Amino acid sequence: MHSHSPMRKIHTKKDRHAQAQREVTGDPVLGKEHANRHKWEIKQLIRKYGGKCVLCGEQVNLVHDDPRQATRDHIIPLSKGGRDTFDNLQLACSQCNQAKGATLPDTDTSL
Ligand SMILES: [Zn+2]
Repeated sequence: MHSHSPMRKIHTKKDRHAQAQREVTGDPVLGKEHANRHKWEIKQLIRKYGGKCVLCGEQVNLVHDDPRQATRDHIIPLSKGGRDTFDNLQLACSQCNQAKGATLPDTDTSL
């Protein structure tokens, strides 16, 4: 009467194993994919712009939290209808990107 299928048992075990391996990386799958895409884009931007910030011309680096850390700067801000695609990205250092974001006249909504 028991309808335990040995095949199914093996399959479940395999699935569990795959999931366990995934958990080792620590990152949720979606977040990881997103981060990987950003990393790839930054690599391409560094190549495209010769590793220099388009705004201040300084050499960027990949040091986390450094003012010269390479960042993806949106040529047309997302808030202005720009797209989150590689075509709309340029290389900017973290400092310039933040300064640009802070001075963006986006907050002016006095229509
Ligand atoms: Zn800069």
